[in-house]
Amino acid sequence: MYTIKTQNSKDLYDEAKNYLVGGVNSPVRAFKPYPFFVKSAKECYLIDEDDNKYIDYCLAYGPMVLGHANQDILSKVKEQMDLGTAYGVPAKKEIELAKEIIDRIPCAEMVRFVNSGTEATMSAIRLARGVTGKNKIIKFDGAYHGAHDYVLVKSGSGALTHGSPNSPGIPADTTKNTILLPFNNRELMEKTIAEQKEEIACIIVEPVMGNVGCILPNDDYLKFLREITEENNIVLIFDEVITGFRLSKGGAQEYFGVTPDLVTLGKILGGGFPIGAIAGKKELMENFSPNGTIYQAGTFNGNPVSITAGIETLKCLNDDFYKQTTKKATILSNHLRELSDKYGIETKVYNVASIFQVYFNKNEVLNYDIAKESNTELFNKYFFGLLNNGVFIAPSQFECCFTSIAHNEEDIQTTMNVMENAFKSLK
Ligand code: PMP
Repeated sequence: MYTIKTQNSKDLYDEAKNYLVGGVNSPVRAFKPYPFFVKSAKECYLIDEDDNKYIDYCLAYGPMVLGHANQDILSKVKEQMDLGTAYGVPAKKEIELAKEIIDRIPCAEMVRFVNSGTEATMSAIRLARGVTGKNKIIKFDGAYHGAHDYVLVKSGSGALTHGSPNSPGIPADTTKNTILLPFNNRELMEKTIAEQKEEIACIIVEPVMGNVGCILPNDDYLKFLREITEENNIVLIFDEVITGFRLSKGGAQEYFGVTPDLVTLGKILGGGFPIGAIAGKKELMENFSPNGTIYQAGTFNGNPVSITAGIETLKCLNDDFYKQTTKKATILSNHLRELSDKYGIETKVYNVASIFQVYFNKNEVLNYDIAKESNTELFNKYFFGLLNNGVFIAPSQFECCFTSIAHNEEDIQTTMNVMENAFKSLK
């Protein structure tokens, strides 16, 4: 069915494979037999090169919370483009967006803008190491913090989907300082810190793990991380590239009531344009160059187009936005739970605010090892069951789904019907 409907995409894929590795520019976009090629995107819809229309719950892996091609954002972006697209000198709007971040996010007292989540986590880890004078970092199994060397170990997202959670090309000397621990496990964390606290610079954590599906923190687990880091002179970094501005106005730290030392941001912050940011306590942030000696730089840092889209996007993220997007994700998640019961398919469904995912797994998914036991074949069937009927989710059990303000009631109802047909066919 898919191959019949997507002939133009197939031709483009055959051509793309000759020039682009795997026909794509980021591995998560690849799936078998081939990905559809998008022609345009509007609101919550993607239109492919064969004019098939999909209701989109991938939303560019998170940024498009207001839907695609939002005209209010784009009109401001167009105005900005006439005023220049990159300056290499500071501009007023950088202050405006930094102030918005500081107003909203509890730990944010100062900001450095970069161009991606990858750059943000790389620099945040460098800052933590530089300030503490310690080398080791703790990351969780299956967490994804971008595609740089310190953290590409037992990594989630595309690295897991495509079978290379540890990437060759990264010297063992680089990752020997990366300690891996299971999420939601206190004992191992306590033991590791007791033994190695003099060497551990930071813990970097996705407060909700969104790159291995959707794994929620156990009761008070984030609070526990806050306490143990505070007691042991370890910097706590929340990687909120997904959860920032998504779980609430102040992100996961506001949602869970736990304030880290540093936060990394991306995705939503750029309103559909490339961006990243590191924010946190002034005493830490001021160690970045030029005030301090820890080097961080970028030609496109604070790019005025991305900054403009970010400012305009954040303006739309009011209480009603969170209410609406949460409601939609809750409806879809409850529907998935009902379908699992109705069709006798063992699943675990998780949702928080506008994030949701179904695992084809009989056990509660608390960490990477349990997530990995999910039935990915069944997930793949579910994925195509949706895709063939006009609903697009990220093509992997180890990603999550997002709702946006642009999905309307009819879209949600259509999605529920399509989900039911997909579940029927799984039996
Ligand atoms: N951290 C997290 C939690 C992410 O989900 C991602 C991207 N999915 C990144 C970092 C890396 O961000 P980017 O792709 O913008 O480099």
